[in-house]
Amino acid sequence: MTAKNMMPYVEGNSAIRAMFEEGNRLAQIYGKENVYDFSLGNPSVPAPEEVNQAIRDILEEEDSLFVHGYNNSNSGYQDVRQRVAEHLNALHGTAFTAENIIMTVGAASGLNVAIKTLVDPGEELLAFAPYFVEYGNYAANHGATLRAVPADTVTFQPNLEALEEMIGPATRAVIINSPNNPTGVVYSAETLKKLAQILTDKSEEFGREIYIISDEPYRELAYDGVEVPYVTKFYNNTVVGYSWSKSLSLPGERIGYLVLPSEMTDFENAIQAANIANRVLGYVNAPTLIQRVAARCIECTTDVEAYDRNRKALYEGLVDAGYECVYPEGAFYMFVKSPIEDDVEFCAKAKEHNILIVPGKSFACPGFVRIAYCVSHDTIVNSIPAFRDLMQEIKEGEEQ
Ligand code: PLP
Repeated sequence: MTAKNMMPYVEGNSAIRAMFEEGNRLAQIYGKENVYDFSLGNPSVPAPEEVNQAIRDILEEEDSLFVHGYNNSNSGYQDVRQRVAEHLNALHGTAFTAENIIMTVGAASGLNVAIKTLVDPGEELLAFAPYFVEYGNYAANHGATLRAVPADTVTFQPNLEALEEMIGPATRAVIINSPNNPTGVVYSAETLKKLAQILTDKSEEFGREIYIISDEPYRELAYDGVEVPYVTKFYNNTVVGYSWSKSLSLPGERIGYLVLPSEMTDFENAIQAANIANRVLGYVNAPTLIQRVAARCIECTTDVEAYDRNRKALYEGLVDAGYECVYPEGAFYMFVKSPIEDDVEFCAKAKEHNILIVPGKSFACPGFVRIAYCVSHDTIVNSIPAFRDLMQEIKEGEEQ
């Protein structure tokens, strides 16, 4: 018998599978190029050639037992962690060493390690809606609950007033994500300062630490020179989760890291707990070959220009067709206001035009839809007439 505990996940998953199967079905009928699949956050830019070269070089140059063996420490290779620390210090003026870094199996495992390390069962995490749907599942993995802070649907910047009201005696952490999935907004230094002040005051009021868990897989995907401030500089009790899934287009390789600053409360215990959490959750250590690749390719960047071109073309096309959306400053998503109240119904209508998009309901923010523009530029250009027809159909429906 399957555990009852898992049945809600099984049922929830069928919606994603249905979307995937629908995409395949439509592609068979209309041809792949006539189906506009904006449903997944899978990078459309290939990994830089340096990554493939590094894999070949490592296999040639380094000892096979070392490259493919268990790591001595569950936190990962010492030299790789040192390289990550130096890279962060050069970029952000921080003072990390290898001791502050834990290599992880992507951001997803990093978040699980962070929650296991910081949050006890029965405690509460808060996240600003709209948020990456897995946060709720990750909290539940550790017996914690996730509560959604209502969205500011005008700017999609964090709703700090609502946060302040919601923090209570059970609150242990706030998960933030900038550049954001699904809105593409970036949190400014000013916003982070205010957030840090609220959490400092509330930690004092309740006599316990309230942490920030900063989920940053899109850190490198920022446009027009917008700054993505480094959160540990604003608040000591911050754990940063990073991944190369998007920044080097390596989501299947499962590689990332956590940063625990030395200034956080009870650092010595926290870093040991995170190291052990990596093991007892069954990750053991981050994939070893790809740890070494990441260290060699740490200065590499993805083709941000390609995503930027998509961003501009899609935004212009949609606004011109009458859609409303906050202009994204980062990541590769747009969070568009559903032109009808029911976002699920709107996604169903969009599918009739071969457009596959995800309802805002899946991000704890109904009334909107997410469009992932990590697709070919041709898909963007060719989809605009379909988006226009969709809007036209909705307007005609309203007039009747
Ligand atoms: N956090 C956010 C906001 C994401 O969008 C994703 C993946 O799409 C993840 C975490 C998980 O990333 P990873 O593939 O590094 O586990």
